[in-house]
Amino acid sequence: MDIFSKIAAGEIPSYKCAENDEFYAFLDINPLVKGHTLVIPRREVDYIFDMEDDEIARFQQFAKKVAVAVKAACPCVKVAEVVLGLEVPHAHIHLIPMQSEADVDFRKEKLKLTEEEFKAIADKIYSEFKK
Ligand code: 5GP
Repeated sequence: MDIFSKIAAGEIPSYKCAENDEFYAFLDINPLVKGHTLVIPRREVDYIFDMEDDEIARFQQFAKKVAVAVKAACPCVKVAEVVLGLEVPHAHIHLIPMQSEADVDFRKEKLKLTEEEFKAIADKIYSEFKK
């Protein structure tokens, strides 16, 4: 199992933001900004564009619902949706609450948050998602 599958299965701890039977969302451990969230399919698939049309449609619908929760929990101008990176071989969407486009610069230094800060943000997003 890859690391994100283990996270979705609860074998590796994460700050859960949202879930359903098919998809899981959790805070990125190296966030660009507070509320930087990763959305993944539970199914092991590396490349997002290898997903079938109906699966990718459900993935987007789930990500949209998570983005609405992220925006409510972390007020921002817009939530950016970004798919990039080669680090983890498991499809993932980055949702990044942004005040300006500079917030979505992956080369900038990542935030260091405490466990309490991570937990508070994730709980807020989760409660918005459950509304
Ligand atoms: P990418 O493949 O998009 O370049 O990088 C994967 C993203 O997942 C990075 O933003 C990284 O911080 C995040 N990430 C990698 N390993 C973990 C992990 O074990 N837990 C969490 N919460 N995020 C991770």
